[in-house]
Amino acid sequence: MTTTQSTWPAVPDHDTTAATGPAAEQAVLDRVPRGLLIDGHWVDAADGATFDVVDPATGDVLARIADATPADGLRALDAADAARHGWATTPPRQRAEVLRRAFDLLQERREEFALLMTLEMGKPLAEARGEVTYGGEFLRWFSEEAVRIGGDHSTNPEGTGRAFVTHKPVGPALLITPWNFPLAMATRKVAPALAAGCTVVVKPAELTPLTTLLFADLLLEAGVPAGVVNVVPTTTAGDVCGPVIADPRLRKLSFTGSTPVGRTLLAQAAQNVLRTSMELGGNAPFLVFEDADLDLAVDAALAAKFRNTGQACTAANRFLVHEDVAAEFADRVTARVGAMRVGRGTEDGVAIGPLIDDRAVAKADRLVTDAVERGAVVRTGGHPVAGPGTFYAPTVLTDVQPGSAILDDEIFGPVLAIRTFRTEDEAVAAANDTEYGLIAYACTEDPARGQRLMETLETGMLGLNTGVVSNAAAPFGGVKQSGTGREGGAEGIAEYLETMYTLTPDPFRRTKGAQR
Ligand code: NAP
Repeated sequence: MTTTQSTWPAVPDHDTTAATGPAAEQAVLDRVPRGLLIDGHWVDAADGATFDVVDPATGDVLARIADATPADGLRALDAADAARHGWATTPPRQRAEVLRRAFDLLQERREEFALLMTLEMGKPLAEARGEVTYGGEFLRWFSEEAVRIGGDHSTNPEGTGRAFVTHKPVGPALLITPWNFPLAMATRKVAPALAAGCTVVVKPAELTPLTTLLFADLLLEAGVPAGVVNVVPTTTAGDVCGPVIADPRLRKLSFTGSTPVGRTLLAQAAQNVLRTSMELGGNAPFLVFEDADLDLAVDAALAAKFRNTGQACTAANRFLVHEDVAAEFADRVTARVGAMRVGRGTEDGVAIGPLIDDRAVAKADRLVTDAVERGAVVRTGGHPVAGPGTFYAPTVLTDVQPGSAILDDEIFGPVLAIRTFRTEDEAVAAANDTEYGLIAYACTEDPARGQRLMETLETGMLGLNTGVVSNAAAPFGGVKQSGTGREGGAEGIAEYLETMYTLTPDPFRRTKGAQR
């Protein structure tokens, strides 16, 4: 299939200075390719359609980009399939060096990527810089993993044969990412896929596609060959992804997003018996025991709750605090939360940016209203903030009652909701009382209790006396309805590798057809 050359203007050279302000913002936006990336070319959508990407802090249009059609999705898969063999047989060292170059380029351009994420997603600039660091680490980590894809050789128990276990790239992969971490969710999938030797089609979130487009441009600069990475932003995700998922050339689906969409995609993937990785929603409990170091617990709680303005799958959703320390914990977090500055993420000192859109504000407000109607007390915040932009005041609720929707639903906003408990068993039962199992947090100075929690909490990850666990070298992922598979760590590359074994007769018993 042929690709259409873009009518989008050429992309100017990038500026690596740490400037902010309207000129710096425009310079960064001018750097972002506006087309789809298919087979190494920036191209228009098949029907020429485009869509606008908006700054959630102002409602202003940031850029107008190509809107992929189902035909474009399949064109992208054509390219990924055509490039499949060449990339799979590219020496691991060469694949590693491309990823390492991408890491180095990202370091050079970190301010540009940070500012772009703040513009399209709203997170405070300091957090966006943190995401560049975190997201970049996946490029470095998997550049190191690319050359360590091992195998195994064993004699079978009967002594009659030898088994060789090898690992091969699974094949073309569709990578679907959410809007809340526009860079890190892309690097966490693209880096292990490329390290393993897989080609990819990336479908970024409609609300935040610009960072992925800029990242794809960086990958080309780093030496990723045409067709190895293809990017198809779209306003019709289901229509574009459906035919790709149904196509027998696709061999892997990796998705990060909500549990309901994950369920739909798993059902679609089953028809093609695809390998899948599902990083889905969470409902993280944050346990504070009576023996906790409260200074540490408060710092960890604020990090676990308010990072990304509460819009993280790892965000603490339910604070379960021992009744002996609940009043002091609530007073301390209220003082800190009440002082948080709300505003556009580019402004100095802003801790709380906008929520991603009106629906997110309405959801946070609905959950707070329901909790208050059932008896919760608003200690600070508890209301939307007047626009422009889609802001919700950082909020602390105490006395949240069982049955409140806020205990079951992912809040995805800056609302810290506190319940109390009396015993460890009660706390663990409450923590596990959810269909989700992505992450839990616990603050305790008792090592034995910490070890017990590692065994009793139903979770893929546990932050023990810390509010941030994400690390490229660790296997990120959940249990129960928070998903399957792991991203990062040694496990991350395995998600993109098939295991195969070859059995041969014992070489000492068989030469030229004759038994020795
Ligand atoms: P979402 O609505 O499920 O969307 C995620 C991605 O899926 C977007 O790119 C979306 O495209 C796409 N999508 C939606 N419907 C689709 C369909 N029928 N077929 C193919 N693709 C489809 O989630 P979100 O609101 O962007 O992200 C927030 C959710 O992600 C939260 O639940 C959060 O917990 C979860 N999350 C999980 C992790 C983790 O590692 N476990 C990390 C981050 C976020 P559009 O943008 O066009 O709708």
